[in-house]
Amino acid sequence: AKCEGRNTFKFYSPGMNATALERLTLETQLRLALAKNQFVLNYQPQIDLPSGRIVGVEALIRWNHPEFGPVPPDRFIPLLEETNLILPVGAWALRTGCRQLREWHRLGLYPLRLAVNISVRQYRLDHLVPLLDTIIGETQVDPSCLELEITESIMIENLEATLQIFEALHARRIRISIDDFGTGYSSLSYLQRLPIDALKIDRSFIQNIHTSASDMKITKAIISLAHSLGIKVIAEGIENAQHLGFLKDARCEEGQGYFIMKAMPAPSLTDRLLRRLPD
Ligand code: C2E
Ligand code: CA
Ligand code: CA
Ligand code: CA
Repeated sequence: AKCEGRNTFKFYSPGMNATALERLTLETQLRLALAKNQFVLNYQPQIDLPSGRIVGVEALIRWNHPEFGPVPPDRFIPLLEETNLILPVGAWALRTGCRQLREWHRLGLYPLRLAVNISVRQYRLDHLVPLLDTIIGETQVDPSCLELEITESIMIENLEATLQIFEALHARRIRISIDDFGTGYSSLSYLQRLPIDALKIDRSFIQNIHTSASDMKITKAIISLAHSLGIKVIAEGIENAQHLGFLKDARCEEGQGYFIMKAMPAPSLTDRLLRRLPD
C-alpha cells in the first residue's frame, strides 16, 4: 500500500498542474508538518579542497512525511513560498541550524561553519535582520561561523535591497555566499560593489567539466574572476574524482558533492566529525 501511495500522492512541483484540491491538501499537510515537527535539516559537508578537511556544512531541509518518507525540497519549497509558509519554516531552519552549530562548537568542532539557504520571501531587511539578531541572541552562536546562501537571481532582482541587507549582515560578521553562480545571466559589475565572501559555482557547470570545453573554460574563468576580486570559490555537485581533481588544479578553495559526502542527519555527521577530530 505504501508503494501505491508513492505513485498516487501528488506533490506539487513547478512544472505540475496541480488541481486546487491537491494544492489545498498539500498546503494543509505542510501546515501540519510544521506544527508536528516533520521537517528536518540534513547537513552536507563542505571541504577545503587542498587538505580535504571539513570546514563547513550546508543545511538542507527535508520533509519526513509520515507515510511517504523523506520528501526533497524541490517538491515543497515552491508551495511554501507561494503560501508564505516559507517564513516560519525558514525561521525554523535558521534556528535549528544555529542550535546545531552551537552544539558542534561546544563539542570542540570550532570554527565549523554553517551555511543556510535563504528564500526570496525571507529576503527583506525588516524580516531577516531582526530574525537573525533574535536567533544569534538565543543560541549564542558565533555569527562569523554563519553563512547565508543567497542565489544570484534573488540578489539581482532585489538589487536596491541587496546592498542594505549585505551591509547589515556584514556588520554582524555574518558571511554571504552567492548560490547557483553563473546561472543568473547577470552583469558581473555587482561583484566588486557588494561585500561577498564566496561564490558557489552551480553544479550544472561542474557536471560537464570533462565533456564540455566551454563549461571547463567558464569554470576556470569564474574562479579567476572571483580570485581577482578577493572572493573565495565553492564548487557544488562534485560527483567523481575527475571533478575533484580538476577543481583542485584550478585552485578552487572549497567543494561539496556526492563524491565527498551526501547530506546527512546531524547525529550521523556528528559521529563522522568527531572521528575526524584528531587530524
Ligand atoms: P541548492 O542550494 O543548490 O543545494 C544543493 C542541492 O544539490 C541539494 O539538493 C544537494 O543535496 C544537492 N547535491 C549535493 N551534492 C550533489 C551532487 O554531487 N550531485 C547532485 N546532482 N546534487 C547534489 P536538495 O537538498 O534536494 O535541495 C534542493 C534545493 O532546495 C537547494 O538547492 C535549495 O535551493 C533548496 N533548499 C534546500 N534547503 C533549503 C532551505 O532550508 N531553505 C530554502 N529556502 N531552500 C532550501
Ligand atoms: Ca545552496
Ligand atoms: Ca546551489
Ligand atoms: Ca542549485
